[in-house]
Amino acid sequence: MSTPISVIGAGQMGNGIAHVFAVGGHPVTMIDVSPDALARGRATIEKNLDRQVKKGALDAAARDAALGRLATSTDLAAVGGSTLVVEAATENTALKFKVFADLDAVASAGAILASNTSSISITEIASRTTRPAQVIGMHFMNPVPVMQLVEVIRGLATSDATTAAVMATAKALGKVPVEVNDFPGFVSNRVLMPMINEAVYCLMEGVGTPEAIDTVMKLGMNHPLGPLALADLIGLDTCVSILEVLQQGLGDPKYRPCPLLRKYVAAGWLGRKTGRGFYAYEA
Ligand code: NAD
Repeated sequence: MSTPISVIGAGQMGNGIAHVFAVGGHPVTMIDVSPDALARGRATIEKNLDRQVKKGALDAAARDAALGRLATSTDLAAVGGSTLVVEAATENTALKFKVFADLDAVASAGAILASNTSSISITEIASRTTRPAQVIGMHFMNPVPVMQLVEVIRGLATSDATTAAVMATAKALGKVPVEVNDFPGFVSNRVLMPMINEAVYCLMEGVGTPEAIDTVMKLGMNHPLGPLALADLIGLDTCVSILEVLQQGLGDPKYRPCPLLRKYVAAGWLGRKTGRGFYAYEA
């Protein structure tokens, strides 16, 4: 059933999520506070759809139909008719709390409000709304059109019906949903971020160059991408935010972000999205 969907945030995750829902047959409204981000998000979706056509994964008619189902807006009230809203705005706790309180006021009463947050408590986000049973984590992986996993996170008050609906929606998109409970970082980032942070400590302490550290992990552990290249893909600002949530939420200093990671973020070296992180990227 191709129900209308809204995606909040047109950044690297938001445009990927809008892409897969549009290809999956849903009318999609992508909403961002920044008109520039919306233009960039739409251009990225067009480029990625073209790539799928070139690879033979999609035919040209399906690409055109998907683009025809995609609308953009800077007005949150455009979520009006959606049965599911997936929020993928910047990883910032105060910002997400505000977005969910605002969404609760403008989304239809039956709509499910999902967050793509990497680490922020779904239970706390849900408490900012009058419908905590209909709030859930729907954590897509980057790049969204390529990666199979969707980590589905149940907050304390999330209902069985909401969970079942989101699991079914993810499966219909061709993804593999895995249900987990709400704890800081869930499973994915609780396990991943300490590894990335430790790789940055190795770099800071001169244990190895970025290439050496990443090659050890790629060839030695059979990881498709080394931890520093993966951090560049995720965004170093997002990595710091997730580590802070882990440190505060679990109360354990072992999760403190490496000072070198903070230094890169302070310099504006955020990874691929700014063209510079542990590696340099073409514009
Ligand atoms: P990003 O910086 O690429 O994009 C964030 C977008 O949110 C920007 O376009 C910004 O303009 C927009 N935004 C900010 N405030 C807004 C608001 N109030 N309303 C609407 N839009 C707003 O970030 P991203 O990497 O796409 O991450 C988005 C979310 O997805 C975060 O919660 C992040 O933790 C999560 N996530 C990221 C990854 C990853 O690999 N980057 C993976 C999984 C989940």
